[in-house]
Amino acid sequence: MSKYVFGVDVGGTSVKMGLFDKEGNILDKWEIPTRTEDGGKNILPDVAKSIQSKMKEKGIEKEEVIGAGLGAPGPIDAEGTVYGAVNLGWETFSIRDTLAQLLDIHVKAGNDANVAALGEMWKGGGKGFKNLVAVTLGTGVGGGIIVNGEILTGASGAGGEIGHIHVQDGETEVCGCGNTGCLEEYASATGVVRLARRALEASSEPSLLRKRPVELLSAKAVFDAVKEKDALAIQIAEQFGEYLGKGLGVIAGVVNPEIFVIGGGVSKAGDILFDFIKPYFDKTVFKGCKNVEFALATLGNDAGIYGAAKLVLE
Ligand code: ZN
Repeated sequence: MSKYVFGVDVGGTSVKMGLFDKEGNILDKWEIPTRTEDGGKNILPDVAKSIQSKMKEKGIEKEEVIGAGLGAPGPIDAEGTVYGAVNLGWETFSIRDTLAQLLDIHVKAGNDANVAALGEMWKGGGKGFKNLVAVTLGTGVGGGIIVNGEILTGASGAGGEIGHIHVQDGETEVCGCGNTGCLEEYASATGVVRLARRALEASSEPSLLRKRPVELLSAKAVFDAVKEKDALAIQIAEQFGEYLGKGLGVIAGVVNPEIFVIGGGVSKAGDILFDFIKPYFDKTVFKGCKNVEFALATLGNDAGIYGAAKLVLE
């Protein structure tokens, strides 16, 4: 009887893998390096070999494996076709079919941020909910939207890319996507640093943030200073909260989620984030979509492997 499932999360430097039972209990977890050279052609064969050797190690027969789920960066549609993944060297091809052929088992694939959102819904901060928006505040702003328990993939796999919602006219610095004024430019870890740098330049107000060189500014330093009631840091956090709170208000008006699950490096600041986000959310959101919970993500870097495993169980 089939009882095992593999969850695979392909990143730019390493591939995280997990072996789960079908209830979602993690039985083993390991990593292999991501070989991005030669157009990333070794990545999926490496994944397949690693899964096969894990099956041998654990004495698992192929008939006992329900399948393998795969999350990877880049736009990936519901059929498991990736439309180029710059970090991995991949062009357009079906990662689902490629891995399925290598392993001769059932495979499903999705965008890593979307898959991580599914993981948070299944076993993390969004457990028990079926309509969820996951927001990852890391180097960039990632997002994943789950509607009625299913990932909103969109036509070409770019559904849920909430980091690139336009929130500011007149921005002069260019976002990684090529546009200007994206949410990511203010609400990511680097975005908070951008706001901090600008606030420090715009005034000579004393602040804990001036106690170190400007190159060492970080989102953590800003929120640590907020916790010390530093006025300038609070002003920066208000700006961050206004961009993100209003942005989430727009998203809520479209998706009508039950919960926002906030993860990524900036979320390590903890519940204090919500003190800055919620007032702007409440002030701007359409009243019919106002009843949304806010929670912190709980799976950290494991959200991807949990979500990938869940993907294949559906
Ligand atoms: Zn952008």
